[in-house]
Amino acid sequence: MPGFELFGDLEKKEVNDVLENGVLMRYGFDGMRNGHWKAKELEKALESTFQVNHAQLVSSGTAAISVALAAAGVGAGDEVILPTFTFVASFEAVMMLGAIPILVDIDDTLTLSPKAVESAVTQKTKAVMVVHMCGSMGHIDALKDICNKHNLLLIEDACQAIGATYKSKPLGSIGDLGCFSFDFVKTITCGEGGAVITNNDGYYLNSDHYSDHGHDHAGNDRGAEAHPLLGYNFRISELHAAVGLAQIKRLPEILKIQKLNYTILREALSQIPTVSFRTVPEGGEENYSFLNFFLPDLERSLKVSEAFKTQGVDACFQYYNNNWHYIRKWNHLKELKSLYPIPAEVKTGLEYLKTKEFPQSDHYIGRNISCLIKLSWTEAEVKARASKMVEIIKSVL
Ligand SMILES: *Cc1c(COP(=O)(O)O)cnc(C)c1O
Repeated sequence: MPGFELFGDLEKKEVNDVLENGVLMRYGFDGMRNGHWKAKELEKALESTFQVNHAQLVSSGTAAISVALAAAGVGAGDEVILPTFTFVASFEAVMMLGAIPILVDIDDTLTLSPKAVESAVTQKTKAVMVVHMCGSMGHIDALKDICNKHNLLLIEDACQAIGATYKSKPLGSIGDLGCFSFDFVKTITCGEGGAVITNNDGYYLNSDHYSDHGHDHAGNDRGAEAHPLLGYNFRISELHAAVGLAQIKRLPEILKIQKLNYTILREALSQIPTVSFRTVPEGGEENYSFLNFFLPDLERSLKVSEAFKTQGVDACFQYYNNNWHYIRKWNHLKELKSLYPIPAEVKTGLEYLKTKEFPQSDHYIGRNISCLIKLSWTEAEVKARASKMVEIIKSVL
């Protein structure tokens, strides 16, 4: 998933184009910009890549989630169902709007278990946010059915899954709204940046307005624009958009390299009978940014992960004790370590986290190892890595 690996002349050319032209902001300055609209151009490219009617660029993936939720009217007191395995941005964005994150178990897809979602639905539930972790997806049809049955929004956090598809549709384009991140470690990067995509005209207009202080962006005189809505500043700059514009042209090449490297590693690990792989629903195609596999139990998974580290197999993660991505170590959330008072309704809504356990999530995350697929590896390096991994796993099992 390494945006930091593949950039150079294309990106420099686009960024220099912005610097030489002199307009660093995406809105306004129409008279000075000589037809340079990098953010708009990148939005068009995203619409075509994801086959959707609308893309709205914003300043980060976290901003994209915040804007998507706000655009769809999620706010005070609403419950949003999220997986226990995600990035902290998921619940941060929900809580910033005064809504309540309801964390539920994952299954062997490493994302939301439809059963767990169904049993968490209450009168207050407004949205289900599926997080396509490590480049693959959950049981999307089942999740969609639940959302339709209970009249809930389906929001896709596809920050880690650019380029993956389900039944030939790009992830992010299937739910009501999809969110992407272009931070420095994602598959393609703007340095910092993100996007909301949707086919819904209303959600798009809301995203466009909300991410820029509620400006209506009507006409070509920014000074004369109205503020029909309250908003905030989640804008991307032209410089960041310029980097992204070069990066999106590289996407097919990046996906191709990821798949090649992933396949070599997977074929090697497949020869060990006690290793199994993350379930990818039928009709799903990963973006191959990570190879996720399971060992028989937590103890051996921790041992293998430790041996990878000490024996130089880098870029592999065991999330059980990780405090960025897995609920066990989110004490800052469980203890509500906040700089400012949290609304009483949210506090009450989060009481469940003091006692609730997630044995099913522990079962999968405890046994999982997740290996980042890099673009810079040569074929010989991937093969050497594969043999080393097999050797280490066999020595521990
Ligand atoms: C990276 C990431 C985000 C946040 O994106 P930023 O651009 O870093 O704010 C949100 N969700 C997931 C799953 C991510 O991996």
